[in-house]
Parts: sequence; C-alpha cells; structure tokens
Amino acid sequence: MANLGYLQVVRHCNHFCGFCSNPSTPFVHTFETMRVLVDDLARRGYFGVILTGGEPTLHPDLPKIAGYARQQGLHVRMITNGSRLAEPDFARDLAAAGVELVHVSVYSVRPEVEARLRGVSGTLERAFAALDSAHAAGLELNVNSVISRDNADHLDENVRWFLDHHPYVRHFVWNNLDPSMGRAEHDKARFTPRLADLELSLHRALSLLQETGRTFRVEKVPLCYMADFAWASTETRKIVKGEERIVHFLDEKQTVRQTAWEHVYSEACQPCTLRSICGGLFDRGEGYDPAELHPVFVSSGAIVKRILAEPDDGGPIVDDSPPDVPVGRITAEGERRFAAQARALARRGPKPA
Ligand code: SF4
Repeated sequence: MANLGYLQVVRHCNHFCGFCSNPSTPFVHTFETMRVLVDDLARRGYFGVILTGGEPTLHPDLPKIAGYARQQGLHVRMITNGSRLAEPDFARDLAAAGVELVHVSVYSVRPEVEARLRGVSGTLERAFAALDSAHAAGLELNVNSVISRDNADHLDENVRWFLDHHPYVRHFVWNNLDPSMGRAEHDKARFTPRLADLELSLHRALSLLQETGRTFRVEKVPLCYMADFAWASTETRKIVKGEERIVHFLDEKQTVRQTAWEHVYSEACQPCTLRSICGGLFDRGEGYDPAELHPVFVSSGAIVKRILAEPDDGGPIVDDSPPDVPVGRITAEGERRFAAQARALARRGPKPA
C-alpha cells in the first residue's frame, strides 16, 4: 500500500487560478502545528506526505517541516506552481532538506491559456524553469494538471511539449476539475469540462505517455472515458488496493480521512462490467452530467490483476482511528493575509474565456 497524507502548509498563493479548490483562508501553520500532523501520519504507518497549499513554498518553514517529515520515515513530496522552485538555489535547498519528489503544476503549454487560467502572466516560463532547476537538484519530478474547459481539448499537446523539452519528467498526474470547492464552486459553468470534451485528447495523451515509457494517474474521470487505461485511474487503484487518504485542510474542514472512492452512478452503470472498480461520476458540486456515462464491456479482472501485480511502496495502516489533531489556527496575521489575497484576486483574477 502507498497511503499518502496531504498537508496544506499555507493557503495563500501568488497565482489567482479561477478554479482554485483551496483558496486563501485566515488559518495559518507554524512549524509546531505542522509537526503534530506529520507525527500523526507517521504513527499511522503512512508511506508519505505531500506538502501542498495554496503555494507551499511561501511558508518560511517549508524546508524545516520537509526535513522533519523525512526524519520520521515519510516519503516527502510537494505540489508547487514552480514560482520559487525556478530558483536553482531554492531547489537545491529543498532537496538538501529532505524533499524527494516534486509535482509541478502546469495546465496548458499554450501561454495565453495558462495566463488566463492563472490570472497572472509569465507563470509558464517559471514552471518550465522549475522543472529544470528541480531536475538539476536531483529531485524526482511529476507534472500535475487540472483538466478544465480551457485545456480539455489539448492534453496531448501538453504531453508532447514535455516529452520534447523536459524528457526527464517520467510521471504525469491529471485531476479533472472539482466543481464543489473554493472558487470553482462559484464559477462552475465557466470551468467544468464536458467529459466528451476531454475524451479524445486524454486518450491521445495517455497513449503517447505509454508509448514513451512514462507513467501516469488520472483522478475524477469515469472509466468509460478512459477504459483503455482504467488501471491508471486513482479511484480504481484505491478501490482495488483498499487505500485511504488523509487531507489536512487549513480551513474549517480541518482533517478529512477519505476511505470511500465511489462517487455517483447512473442507470447506464448497471450493465457495465467495470462497475465494481469504477469511481463513477464525480458528483460533488453537480458540475458533471450523468447522461454522459455509458456502459463498457471489458474485463475488470485483467485490470485488477495489473494493479495488484505492481510493487507497493508502503506497508499497511497500523491505526485507522479518525485523526483528532487541530490543523493550524486563525491569527491576526492570517486574517490580514486573507484580506490582502481577496483584494488581489479582485484586481488580478482570471479573465473570462
Ligand atoms: S458506465 Fe458507470 S460504472 Fe461504467 S465506466 Fe462509466 S461511470 Fe463507470
């Protein structure tokens, strides 16, 4: 098993993505408030921790908490927009501190699309520079991407760019848009793709990666839209392997322990041979249309066999009690930063498509 915990280090950010599912809050972390969460993950037998945000590199104690997590035996990862990681010294410092794997987030290699989604220009060059800096520092690299209306038709174009210009990136992760949280919830019609919009380009992208020996995962896409690559569905893998996920949200939600990976199913799912291993349609936020689902008739046994045949990184969970550790706290500094981010978003938020 490879259970991974998510620790939101900060919730402020220097980008202004219109569909951000975790925008700014008044909650803040100190090293001590993060340390107890790391201890909890280590005690449970988690394989690793993903330091995320907001933009985690904006927290001054990021190297310190990364080093501490590594000392506790966790595999330390970070999700970043790349703005600070582009600095070679910073990348080297993080690697020296204990970060082992970095997910750099890029939505589109088309500069105008990326700038529109980020709400700020010049981010693409920084993300590309971050890949080069992190690679030079010896960090393992993934490219992460949220699928939205704006990039759904050219996921394969994005992959081709990375194969040509950053061939050392070996793993890619797609998350279909979550229309239920944060800013996306208020603008879901603007950002939520139709499944039909992403099907062809996702298939081309995954085929390209498979042909070139890369690995990949896809979350929140029903298997009928990626049936040839069902083994790469995050939900399917979690269902088959019985894995869980803890997310320490730096907001009122606090800690969420996710053990169920099934979303919603329609009548079309009843005859579908993949029903027992499919996460179905991501239902929260009601951004997607159940009428887009259609049954498929392929063997689920071969998919299960393939997933279980892959080597596992971690061991079993040794404590499955609900976590009961406070996640950060609201401070005057947190309130000030929250207000400042709201003003900045109003000035610089993403422009309409
Ligand atoms: S029809 Fe339903 S069960 Fe079958 S692949 Fe699509 S969402 Fe999954």
